[in-house]
Amino acid sequence: MINLLPFKNEPFTDFTDERNAQAMQQALENVEAQLGRDYPLIIGGQRVESGMLHTSVNPSKFTQVIGRVHHATREHADQAIAAAWKAFATWQHVPAEQRANYLHKACALMRRRKNEFNAWLVLEVGKSWAEAEADTAEAIDFMEFYARQAVRYAEPQPLTTTPLPFETNELKYIPLGVGIVIPPWNFPLAILAGMAAAAVATGNTVILKPSDDSPVIAAKFMELMEEVSLPPGVMNFLPGDGPTVGEYMVEHPKTRFISFTGSMAVGLRINELAAKPREGQIWIKRVVAEMGGKDTIVVDETADLDEAAAGIVASAFGYSGQKCSACSRAVIVESVYDQVIEKVRERASKLSVGPAKDFGNFTGPVSSQRSYEKVNKYIEIGKTEGRVVLGGGRHELADEGWFVPPTVIADVAPKARLAQEEIFGPVLAIVKAKDVDDALSIANNTIYGLTGAFYSSDRERIERAKRDFHVGNLYINRKCTGALVDVHPFGGFNMSGTDSKAGGRDYLGLFLQAKSIAEKL
Ligand code: NAD
Repeated sequence: MINLLPFKNEPFTDFTDERNAQAMQQALENVEAQLGRDYPLIIGGQRVESGMLHTSVNPSKFTQVIGRVHHATREHADQAIAAAWKAFATWQHVPAEQRANYLHKACALMRRRKNEFNAWLVLEVGKSWAEAEADTAEAIDFMEFYARQAVRYAEPQPLTTTPLPFETNELKYIPLGVGIVIPPWNFPLAILAGMAAAAVATGNTVILKPSDDSPVIAAKFMELMEEVSLPPGVMNFLPGDGPTVGEYMVEHPKTRFISFTGSMAVGLRINELAAKPREGQIWIKRVVAEMGGKDTIVVDETADLDEAAAGIVASAFGYSGQKCSACSRAVIVESVYDQVIEKVRERASKLSVGPAKDFGNFTGPVSSQRSYEKVNKYIEIGKTEGRVVLGGGRHELADEGWFVPPTVIADVAPKARLAQEEIFGPVLAIVKAKDVDDALSIANNTIYGLTGAFYSSDRERIERAKRDFHVGNLYINRKCTGALVDVHPFGGFNMSGTDSKAGGRDYLGLFLQAKSIAEKL
């Protein structure tokens, strides 16, 4: 039994300290010297080259190749699933403390090499230094937290206080089997590490299929798993096309569960495909799907308007609005509407957007050509649905990277597309509400329910918002992004997903099944 200190969130590095900035600069140079390499599949501990190479580029400078990953075929998927089942035969019986120990070791290594992971995040997905640091710190938090929780789930579980006189009774949590882990590109380290760590800490084995926009960071995570000597086959690495190899694994009769984070469209598709039993399948697949949002910040006339504007700008434009929790709508009551818009415009107009590796830039590009086109399409829609208060034009570096200037569109109708659909870019829609009741009803008028924030100084209204604002993660008088592991268990309502509450005490239950055993005395 290892003696551990209580869980504590990983502190963020302060890059305004010159020594820290220099260390990060050095890490960027070291990582840049490693760009352009090829990364194989990893199946049952063996490196496999398919020869079908997928190239990942720097969104701040799309001529720069970050690396190339070998893409898997369906045959590779069959092999990976078989390797994972083979490893499961022993891994499921490894004591929880031992399994947890692999993750503790991985955390120790990642802590020492934080800047290296940060640098990969800056270069492959265009995170600013601060956002990269938050991603790496969250990856560490997830691994540390789930390692501890896995040990708790393995302890004897409480049952009745009035046992039957002629029986002993116990309840044990046992793993499910082989799972497919499908993360998004926007938290390519934290969410990937979190979903994979939760699965293996609880005794499952997995196939990790990274996003095509962030496969090199995923490969770096796999290298870390190899460094801590995670047994072969426990975590298999299978980059590949989502709709082909991803779906094939979702439909596979030997897949026991799917742990997905990504868009609503893909999540619903996975849920539908997984629901249908296939030839030879002997279980109902479990699907955990955390999906998109249309996250709203409500501001009433009693709120501290400067604080509210700061919260809106940070939530809407941090990482260029590419967080599932990003504020993409501000709903403001009429009497302070113009004032808040002006404060938001003023703050947002000062944000510098440019290459993510330059520390001076508040935010970098959007992640891909696909995102760039989608965001610009919504900006055009916004021009017809509202009044452009800021942005809406082309960024001066748009020929080099997928940069989009912060864009604010006011006077958007509550049911307009800009107020209803997830954009996933630096575009904020502002909606006018008659009063606080109207504002709360607008806040609840989408199909989503992920995060939201409510700015007010009126106690009765705050209590009403706590009761009526229907989102999985509600914040009062603060921004709606920045959930911390163990502090803000994360997951959404409605079409935002299965409300798994990642980073919370109940999360690991999703990777386990309970076995009740009664023995007659
Ligand atoms: P996406 O749905 O396009 O892709 C997610 C993953 O699914 C990728 O690995 C992709 O390769 C894979 N995939 C795509 N099609 C597939 C298919 N048919 N079958 C199996 N796998 C398939 O999402 P994205 O663009 O990577 O990420 C952005 C989305 O993720 C946004 O909607 C955002 O809100 C959401 N997100 C949600 C949370 C949350 O916790 N709720 C967190 C982060 C991101």
